[in-house]
Amino acid sequence: MYNQQMKKCAYDVVVAGAGPAGLVAALLVAGTGLKVAIIDPLFADKKAKKANADARTVALMQGGVRLLKHLDIWPRCHKVSAPLWRMRLIDHTRRFLKAPTVTFDAHELGDDPFAWNVPLGLLNRCLQEAAGDMQNLDLIGGRIEAVVSQGLEVEISIDTQSNSISSSCVIAADGRHSLCRDAAFIKVTSWSYPQKAVACSFSHGLPHEDMSIEFHRSAGPLTLVPLEGNRSGLVWIEKPQDADEIFQLSDDAFCHELEKQTDAVLGRISKASPRGLFPIDGLTARHFAKNRIMLVGEAAHVLPPIGAQGLNLGLRDAALVAELIGDTKLVNEDVGSDRIMQTYDRRRRLDIFPRTVVVDRLNRSLIHNFAPLQGARGLGLFMLNQIGPLRREVMQRGMQPLNDVPRLMQA
Ligand SMILES: Cc1cc2nc3c(=O)[nH]c(=O)nc-3n(C[C@H](O)[C@H](O)[C@H](O)COP(=O)(O)OP(=O)(O)OC[C@H]3O[C@@H](n4cnc5c(N)ncnc54)[C@H](O)[C@@H]3O)c2cc1C
Repeated sequence: MYNQQMKKCAYDVVVAGAGPAGLVAALLVAGTGLKVAIIDPLFADKKAKKANADARTVALMQGGVRLLKHLDIWPRCHKVSAPLWRMRLIDHTRRFLKAPTVTFDAHELGDDPFAWNVPLGLLNRCLQEAAGDMQNLDLIGGRIEAVVSQGLEVEISIDTQSNSISSSCVIAADGRHSLCRDAAFIKVTSWSYPQKAVACSFSHGLPHEDMSIEFHRSAGPLTLVPLEGNRSGLVWIEKPQDADEIFQLSDDAFCHELEKQTDAVLGRISKASPRGLFPIDGLTARHFAKNRIMLVGEAAHVLPPIGAQGLNLGLRDAALVAELIGDTKLVNEDVGSDRIMQTYDRRRRLDIFPRTVVVDRLNRSLIHNFAPLQGARGLGLFMLNQIGPLRREVMQRGMQPLNDVPRLMQA
């Protein structure tokens, strides 16, 4: 009965949105042999493809690197990336209560760096090309206009297609304003911060020695993250008006200002790439799967870019979705069943909720001028500096959950 009805569906799985989380989910699910489509306006619009040159770099933890190795994308990303062996936090506020400088060193944990910093534009291009090469993965150019989940299938209407398509389940990777999330009747909790981030990459005179440096300032952190050679990525968080002004500076003035703000710790700064400007806000879906629709990436969670958590969470979403769908296919069951929805929801909330809270508190502890909060932050960093086991525990938990890591991301 189930199998007969499922034959009506054009696809086993449809992925909405071809950002990095959606592309990884689509590639992994197609890798199980199911018939998959991924839908995004960027496949139809050449201008959108060009705009895909993203100013951001993303620090991917070892689990994410393992996924990219599995998808055979890592060799290309590896060439222009750099390992993060050390992370230094410097209190750059002018406050009376200053926290000590803390340096985390991955050698304390073992033989792997904390993460690899990868240009996001390149990562997206590699993923798009891999998706284009996959036989059982259709790339559909267009914007999803409506999604209706009914009975054993989901109907998807796309602005460029005269007929709707159907599938057994939808992976919603359509970003923070997700239409698919609304279609699943999933509510969100959302909030914003009085901040914006300027991101780009740049060259510098002194070597970064595979160390990221976070300058903690009262408007938010300014973070330098190593790339290949004498280049680094930048995430510079400021009050919105200041960020707008920094975004609009000439290239020379921008490099000069960045050098000044970072005490020329990397020497002379030059050759900054085009900049991106990003709002700083937060969002968490109240459920991560419902009505045959599973949320991955920013459709499920948005975090401030602190501690490199956002896409790392998104990749764990994608890997778990693919794992659950692949296991279900093996026993020839419904890949959109309530059981899968509930399992995915339960397992992802254990990872997403605590990280969202920690990143939120870290950001608020910087921007609020409340002395006891500043004192607590300083004390916390002092203890991390002094107590090795505590420091190692924090480093380990920062990278990925201690248990329940999707199989493809495990060492
Ligand atoms: C400055 C900055 C630095 C960051 N650094 C890091 C880092 O170091 N490490 C880390 O892990 N994370 C980092 N992040 C977070 C990371 O960049 C994001 O988590 C990630 O890019 C989100 O990817 P996504 O695929 O979920 O969403 P998106 O990239 O937003 O993709 C959504 C896609 O859905 C498509 N779409 C939307 N609506 C529809 C529709 N109706 N129909 C069809 N398609 C649709 C869009 O066209 C888009 O292609 C950073 C973020 C910022 C802002």
